[in-house]
Amino acid sequence: MNIVLFNNDLRISDHQPLSEAARAGEVLPVYVVDPSQWKDTPLSARHFQFVVESLNELSKGIEGKGGKLFLAIGEIEPVLAKLLDTYDSINLFTHNDSRLMDKVKKWAKQNQQLLFSYGPELENVHGKHFNNRLNSYLKEPMAEVPNRIDVPSKTPDFLFTDFKKLQNYRVKGTKIRFGQQGGEMKAIETLDSFLEGRFANYIENQQKPLPSSLSSSRLSAYITWGNIAVRTVYQKTDEKLQACELEEDKIQLAEFLSKLTARVKICSMKIQHQQLEEVREIKREWNEDWFQRWLQGRTGIPIIDAAMRSLDKTGWMNFSLRAMVTSFIANTLLMDEQKLSAAMAGLYLDYEPAVHDFYIRQQAGMKGKMKIIDPVKVGRQLDPDGTFIRRYIPELSKLPDEYIHEPWLYPAFYQLGYEAPIVDVKKAYKNARLQIQAIGNKGKPARKKEEGETEQLSFDI
Ligand SMILES: Cc1cc2nc3c(=O)[nH]c(=O)nc-3n(C[C@H](O)[C@H](O)[C@H](O)COP(=O)(O)OP(=O)(O)OC[C@H]3O[C@@H](n4cnc5c(N)ncnc54)[C@H](O)[C@@H]3O)c2cc1C
Repeated sequence: MNIVLFNNDLRISDHQPLSEAARAGEVLPVYVVDPSQWKDTPLSARHFQFVVESLNELSKGIEGKGGKLFLAIGEIEPVLAKLLDTYDSINLFTHNDSRLMDKVKKWAKQNQQLLFSYGPELENVHGKHFNNRLNSYLKEPMAEVPNRIDVPSKTPDFLFTDFKKLQNYRVKGTKIRFGQQGGEMKAIETLDSFLEGRFANYIENQQKPLPSSLSSSRLSAYITWGNIAVRTVYQKTDEKLQACELEEDKIQLAEFLSKLTARVKICSMKIQHQQLEEVREIKREWNEDWFQRWLQGRTGIPIIDAAMRSLDKTGWMNFSLRAMVTSFIANTLLMDEQKLSAAMAGLYLDYEPAVHDFYIRQQAGMKGKMKIIDPVKVGRQLDPDGTFIRRYIPELSKLPDEYIHEPWLYPAFYQLGYEAPIVDVKKAYKNARLQIQAIGNKGKPARKKEEGETEQLSFDI
């Protein structure tokens, strides 16, 4: 029996495992809710909600081709064992970046069943070879959507098709109301609207909190959960780029494509960064109160709180805000980034372990550079008139512009009902700077950024 194991590839377009399995004969498309993926990781209820929305649409797409999507709840190995009991022999079709891949590979080997995996083979390929292989994969023709998907007449009883059963599956955290909705159609609409015009100010707006939410692609959650293939995004964007008449438009789309390929590179790297001993030494004892206030957007520092509240509400933030809130707690407050990393991952709808870990470690000095970002100065650059702050912090909605980034200076501060700052920002910033500078007497302040660049100090450690 040909079994397609869906995981983080919840679409039917450009889905090679599905097209190959359909070509081979009858197909059993299956999505397994594996508790080790949902309970022992940072994934939360908002991710599950997105996945269920995606599965709903996927199921309709498969039904439209005459097939059926089957669901199972349980660890993947016993699920596969039961499938093998039913069919005597099984061929497994999946993408090689499936989050269950390691377990599936091991099981298939132990049980001598065939596993066909698809996707770019980029692990342990470096330099020129990496770029060549990635480019040829991105330019390959997309996998055809099968015309028909034939379902076997016999299916085991433990598989189900009723989505209501998934509603009772409990995953930690809360759902969100204002986040992006999962599904292939939404992914395609999002890409289309980006290429139809939203991209025009991609570079200019990429750091700005509110404008970036419209002019960046907003494809990250769809890419993470595979509602759209990176190859599809690449090819459609490239097609648009070739057709652009204005040089300015080409520049925007080329920058977007470089971000997209950066993601593929990071996902294939599997780098382990060791935290430097010196960095570990300057970390504070864990302060649960600070951590909770940071997580809930109650630090009393407006740009940090607005960013964290927007993340909680929408599941998304742009790169600069992600870098800023990480740097603030890891480098300015000097708290252990490993604990806060998981909490943040639970909030990002686009949480992709390899990418998330890479940037958390990068921001927190694991790669030999530690960035300390001054949230007041950076806040002024990113949100000069406080529009973003006012949107997410109603307590500050009527505060005059001049105080919006430092409300504690406002004479009637205590009438605002907003938190007093968790720390004296300037002192904390200075303290962190001195501590990091002092590490092994090697930390040398790098150049201060030019005007217009993000206000931050980088230290080589
Ligand atoms: C601390 C931290 C954690 C992050 N965690 C994640 C994560 O879990 N998942 C994730 O997809 N991105 C992550 N990023 C990268 C980046 O912030 C998001 O990809 C981006 O904000 C998503 O918005 P967008 O889809 O509109 O991006 P666009 O700018 O429109 O980019 C298009 C696509 O390219 C990829 N991409 C964009 N920027 C980057 C980048 N700098 N590095 C690698 N890939 C990129 C994403 O898949 C994105 O959807 C993280 C950044 C930081 C600083």
